[in-house]
Amino acid sequence: MKLYTYSYNGCTYVGKGENKYIFPFTGISEMYELIGQELDKLPCGEAVPMSDVELLSPIISPKNDVICLGINYVEHGKEAARYNKEAFLRERPHAIYFSKRVNCAVSPNGNIEGHFDITNKLDYECELAFIISKDAKNVKKEDAYDYVFGYTIVNDVSARDLQTNHKQWYFGKSLDGFTPIGPCILTADETEFPPKLDIKSYVNGELRQNSNTEYMVFDIPHIISELSQGMTLKAGTIIATGTPSGVGMGFDPPKFLNAGDEVICEIEKIGRIVNKVI
Ligand code: MG
Repeated sequence: MKLYTYSYNGCTYVGKGENKYIFPFTGISEMYELIGQELDKLPCGEAVPMSDVELLSPIISPKNDVICLGINYVEHGKEAARYNKEAFLRERPHAIYFSKRVNCAVSPNGNIEGHFDITNKLDYECELAFIISKDAKNVKKEDAYDYVFGYTIVNDVSARDLQTNHKQWYFGKSLDGFTPIGPCILTADETEFPPKLDIKSYVNGELRQNSNTEYMVFDIPHIISELSQGMTLKAGTIIATGTPSGVGMGFDPPKFLNAGDEVICEIEKIGRIVNKVI
């Protein structure tokens, strides 16, 4: 099932998409209300054509910071180390975790704020993200699937100069308007586990990233199991699993984003988000 948050006639709804229509869940206006429910049994209102609604981010205001993985595809690790050895090169038997503040997620067709007054190294990162379905504590890898509500696309927009200057990546990844999420949540039952999905990004129509989520270094069972040892992952938590190679800093010379650029992040079965830099 594909789950959407959308605006129609000035009101916000949550619904399921089928063919080119959306069926609103009766009495539900926020995605979090769906987590833990038997979706098939929820009553729906009258369908509206998808073309008549404005899609919003499926989770507009995450309750918690988004948890992110750094350098979770081998080829991306190489390109990042080429760009800045001090910041990115390291021997890594363990996953890199960091977080990203998302006060308000950018809609699937919304604008990325460039913040060019404080950065001139603006970059994109197309990532598969998953949403936790129930509070997770001490979860074994083999049980991880039971804790996944579904999947979405995150563009982990990054100001590389802030990211490297401040050592911690938090500031350079958390500016307002830096996190497009969408276009939907694909429920976990709709794909294999762990997912093997083509993942791509384009800038102004040029293919930049082109990989498959099966090439993650640390996969979703590993992430859920490891993070839930001693730390409760609350239901609704969004975890972005890292980006493949082909980001702007990976090119020589780097191809950073400018005002007016259009970034498309696309993952098989989920869809695409199309965001313009302003
Ligand atoms: Mg990232």
